[in-house]
Amino acid sequence: MSDRLADLADSLRAVRERISAACAAHDRDPAHVRLLAVTKTFPASDAALLTDLGLTEFGENREQEASAKAGEVASLRPDVAVRWHMVGHLQRNKARSVARWAAEVQSVDSARLADALAKATRAARDAGERDTPLDVLVQVSIDGDPARGGCPIPELPALLDGVTRTGELRLRGLMTVAPLGMEPDAAFDAFHQVAQRIRVEHPNAVELSCGMSNDLESAIAHGSTCVRVGTALLGGRGLASP
Ligand SMILES: *Cc1c(COP(=O)(O)O)cnc(C)c1O
Repeated sequence: MSDRLADLADSLRAVRERISAACAAHDRDPAHVRLLAVTKTFPASDAALLTDLGLTEFGENREQEASAKAGEVASLRPDVAVRWHMVGHLQRNKARSVARWAAEVQSVDSARLADALAKATRAARDAGERDTPLDVLVQVSIDGDPARGGCPIPELPALLDGVTRTGELRLRGLMTVAPLGMEPDAAFDAFHQVAQRIRVEHPNAVELSCGMSNDLESAIAHGSTCVRVGTALLGGRGLASP
């Protein structure tokens, strides 16, 4: 076993233990908490090794990096069905490219972006570049700070209706990042309450993507169905990285 594979196996075991412990503490089934490995800034070879350890869902936050990496992993592990998730802020002019490689976009935060993604998905399907609908999560801004991305809570109902109306995107749920300077417990509690309210109108929006390396226990306590873990699996990204 390569040193890197052994290191990744160790950290994966530790992350899985944290997820199991948090689930046990809150009477939840670990099978209902997906682990999304956030591979941003790390090479395709790491993602390939993670597939050897059984992971098949990866998150990226930059379109160009993700597009290249998805292609590399496909040639490194041609037999593995990987699902790539866009988790970072997305410009509308990147929608067409995202529709080629992404199974899911977790960072939809405006109706204009949703429209662009719907058009791009249709075009990708017509071009034979994808054969599945695009799954989307709407990113929620818990504190309403526009600088940090996400849809402010009061604008959420209109955006969700807009996503549904495209007829092309499959609304799966909501995503959030705990705001800086806010207790994760308070942020994820607010997020969970919003998710329960919107489910009245959107019963299929059952995914709650929240929790990262530092706050996944709190997220699981508040109903997370998808934790997005980078550092705790792959190591530090260094100061220059996002
Ligand atoms: C980088 C990133 C993560 C992973 O963060 P870690 O603290 O390294 O686990 C999760 N979600 C989003 C949106 C990210 O950009």
